[in-house]
Amino acid sequence: MADFRKDAAEVVRWIDRYLSHARDYPVLSRIAPGAVAHALPEEAPEQGEPFERIMADFERIVIPGITHWNHPRFFAYFSISAAPVAVLAEALAAALDVNAMLWRTSPAATELEDVVLGWLARMMELPPEFHGIVYDTASIGGFTALAGAREALDLDVRDRGMAGRDLPALRVYQTAHTHSHIEKGAIALGIGRANVVNVGTDDAHRMRPDLLERHLRDDVERGFRPMCVVATVGTTSTTSIDPVRAIGEIARRFGIWLHVDAAYAGIAAVLPECRPILDGIELADSLVVNPHKWLFVPIDFSALYIRDPEILRRAFSLVADYLATPEEGVRNYMDYGLQLGRRFRALKLWFVMRSFGTQKIREILRGQIALAAEFAGWVAAEAGWEVMAPHPFSVVCFRYRPRDASEKEIEAANERIMTAVNAGGTIYLSSTRLEGALVLRLAIGNEKTTRDDVRLAWDVLREAAANA
Ligand SMILES: *Cc1c(COP(=O)(O)O)cnc(C)c1O
Repeated sequence: MADFRKDAAEVVRWIDRYLSHARDYPVLSRIAPGAVAHALPEEAPEQGEPFERIMADFERIVIPGITHWNHPRFFAYFSISAAPVAVLAEALAAALDVNAMLWRTSPAATELEDVVLGWLARMMELPPEFHGIVYDTASIGGFTALAGAREALDLDVRDRGMAGRDLPALRVYQTAHTHSHIEKGAIALGIGRANVVNVGTDDAHRMRPDLLERHLRDDVERGFRPMCVVATVGTTSTTSIDPVRAIGEIARRFGIWLHVDAAYAGIAAVLPECRPILDGIELADSLVVNPHKWLFVPIDFSALYIRDPEILRRAFSLVADYLATPEEGVRNYMDYGLQLGRRFRALKLWFVMRSFGTQKIREILRGQIALAAEFAGWVAAEAGWEVMAPHPFSVVCFRYRPRDASEKEIEAANERIMTAVNAGGTIYLSSTRLEGALVLRLAIGNEKTTRDDVRLAWDVLREAAANA
C-alpha cells in the first residue's frame, strides 16, 4: 500500500490544483478531431506501466482534450460544478465499489438514497407521498416515467407487447421546447414519434393548456389513447415554465399521467420565492430533477420522484433465481427500472447537503439568479443588443442586433460572435434557436462564478460584436 499512498497523495494534489485553478485553462478544448486518439497507441500495453507514466500522459494527452465544465466561465448549456467534497465522496464510493442492486447488496446505499431524496423532496416541498429513486440521467428517469405511464394504462404491454394486437395508438403530449429525451423515450417504448404531439405555446414559450385540452379531445374522438403529458419547469432553450397546475387539472380529467421535467430548474424550488414554479405538483405522477445540474454534485445523478413506485415494479420487476433474496419489506432498486447494477450515488449528494447545508445552497442559487438578472440588465440597456426571452432562473437568451440589419445579417453576426468568443478561450457559451432565430445563451451554474466572470463575459461579447 506504500505505492497507493504515494499515488493517492499525487492525485489529491492534482485535484486540489485543478479545482483551485480551473479558471487558468481555456474553457473549450482546442484540439482537432482525432488528436487524442492519434496520440495513443493502437494496442493496450502488454506489460503494466508505472503510475507516474500514466499520470504524465493524463496531463499531456487527456487534459488538452478536456472542455472544462468546472471552469467558472463555462456559460454553455447548463453550467455546473463538482463540489470538492462530492469529488471525495465519489472516491469513497469507488473504493467501496458496491453494487446497490438489492437492499442486501449494500443496505446503506439503498437507505441513504431514501433519506437524501427525502431531504431533497422536503426542501422542494414536494407532496409527501412522492418517492424518490436515483437514476443516472433525466433521460433515463424520463424514459422510466413514460414506461410507468404506459403500465398505468393496464394494457398488459409487459406480457403481450404492442404489435400484432388490437391496441389504439398511445399518445404523448409535450411542446416544441420539451427536451428531446421524451421523444427518444417514445421511440424506445414503441410509441413512435408520430404519436408525440407538440402542443402550441404562448409568447413566453409555455404550453397552452387550452390547446392541450383541444388535442386531447380530438385524439380521444379519433380513437387514440392519450397516455402522458410532459410539463417542463425550466425548458432547455429558455428555461420557460409550463403551467403545471392547469396542465395537471386537464391530465386528471382525461385520466392521463403527468410527468414534470424539472431537470435543471426544479432545484430552484428550494427558494421560497421560486417555489411557485412547482405550483400544482400534487397533481403530477412523476417529476425529474437533476442534482448533477444545479446542486453541485458531479455528473451523474438524477432523481425521479414518483407518486406510486409500485407501478415501476409492475412494469419492470423480473427476479431471476440467482437474484432471489429473503428480506421482506425492503426495496430492491433493481426492480424499478431497466438496469440491474447501480452505483452508490446517494453518497455524494449526502456529502454535499451536509457540508453545504440548506442555507448555503439557497444563497448560491439566489446569487446565481441575481447575476443572470444583472447580465440581462446590461444586455437590455446596451444599444444593438436584445434579451430574447424571460429569464426566471440563471440562464439568459440574448443576441446582438445591430441597427438596420436584416435577419440574415443579424444571424451571421451572432454566428461570428459565437465562433470568436469560444475560440478565445476566456468564456464558453452555446446557442439555441427561438422561432427560427439564432440566439446566444449564457448559463450561470458554477459555484465559483463571480460577478467579475460575468462582467468579463459581457466585455468579451461586446468586443467580439465590435469586430463581427
Ligand atoms: C438537461 C435536461 C435534460 C437531460 O438531462 P440528462 O440528465 O443529461 O439526461 C432533460 N430535461 C431538461 C429540461 C434538461 O434541462
